[in-house]
Order: sequence, then C-alpha cells, then structure tokens
Amino acid sequence: MTLPVPTAVQTRLMPVFPFMGCYGQPQAVALTPAPVYEVCPHCKREVITHRFMTGAFTNRTFHCREHGDVVPMRSAICNAPL
Ligand SMILES: [Zn+2]
Repeated sequence: MTLPVPTAVQTRLMPVFPFMGCYGQPQAVALTPAPVYEVCPHCKREVITHRFMTGAFTNRTFHCREHGDVVPMRSAICNAPL
C-alpha cells in the first residue's frame, strides 16, 4: 500500500536539470565565452599590432599581411595566418 504523495513534495524530489526551465522547456545555457581576436575586416586574419609612444601617449597601429594598415574588428572568428 502506498500513500499519496503531496504535489509539493513530488516537485522537490524531481531531478533538477540546470538547462531546463521551470516548465520543462530548454533554456539558453551560459557557455564559456569564445576568445575574441582583433582581426582584419577583409580576410578575418589576426592583425599584427605595433605599439609606440608619442610623448605621454601610447599609440597602436594594426597591420594585415595581405591588406596592409587596417582598422581591425573584434571577432570570435579568426582565419589561419598566411
Ligand atoms: Zn586582411
């Protein structure tokens, strides 16, 4: 003979999956963020950074082997170098 288990107790005893929402719907899972690279906007290859001082200021310029001086973009996608 089994006694009826109250609904509140049944809910607490159910397995809890961190990726499931309260209604059993899958939710977005926080993944480890992908590394972000500074890449050439044309070929998505990582740029070479040159740093130099001008007076009290530190300046940076960015160079792509194929496209020359570029303004880089930050991207999680980075193609293999030439
Ligand atoms: Zn490039």
